[in-house]
Amino acid sequence: MKLTICHLYPDLLDLYGDRGNIIALAARCRWRGIEPVIQQASLDEDLNFMGMDILFIGGGSDREQGLLVQDLMRREKELRRAIENGLVVLCICGGYQMLGKYYQMSNGERIDGLGILDVWTIAGERRLIGNVVVDLSEKILGDKPCKFKTLVGFENHSGKTHLGEKASPLGNVLFGHGNNGEDSGEGVRYLNVFGTYLHGPLLPKNPHFADLLLELAAKRRGLDNSLRELDDHLEELAHTAMVQRLLKQA
Ligand code: GLN
Repeated sequence: MKLTICHLYPDLLDLYGDRGNIIALAARCRWRGIEPVIQQASLDEDLNFMGMDILFIGGGSDREQGLLVQDLMRREKELRRAIENGLVVLCICGGYQMLGKYYQMSNGERIDGLGILDVWTIAGERRLIGNVVVDLSEKILGDKPCKFKTLVGFENHSGKTHLGEKASPLGNVLFGHGNNGEDSGEGVRYLNVFGTYLHGPLLPKNPHFADLLLELAAKRRGLDNSLRELDDHLEELAHTAMVQRLLKQA
């Protein structure tokens, strides 16, 4: 079994170890005898969204987002088709904002987004920075038995994201700011697209979420998506330590 995982704009959108999410997904494949095929693409490089299983887009500063917007726009149709077809996407912070309708920066300028996610982002006066604990909503994990109902990570953004009717949050923040520091929502899910403000990287300390992405990707390909359980005691220790430390401060 092979799973193709693609990192879009690895040279422009890769903050706070975001690239570590690719490493985590690849390792969790290999540990199960699944061959991960890792692709990368940046400006002016062609991609076959329908031919991949997981697309990853990291975060970046306003400057980087401005540099790539035109390149991203020319991919809109093909990416939207693949997403409607169930492509699994993990997009972090700046990448998450770019799949929405627009991002209005603190200088008032607007960067148009792809409008695939029913969200929009407006920069606030102060940056939303720090560790985060998210209480995942039932809808996200569905009936997947897993040890954790939380996500942990780190955020640093000026953008405050608001969700429209067609978008539901990943969960509510128990610690930290989340989408906008007002409605306690964090991230978004639309079909198999998962957007979040959580850097860190996200997946090493949230193995249950990594496996959810892998299972959805295998299922889309009609492959056996019941992944063999891994020994995650180190990942679980790291996750629990963060949750306990932060909720003590809450
Ligand atoms: N530039 C965006 C903002 O400030 C995204 C930042 C990020 O990806 N960490 O909100």
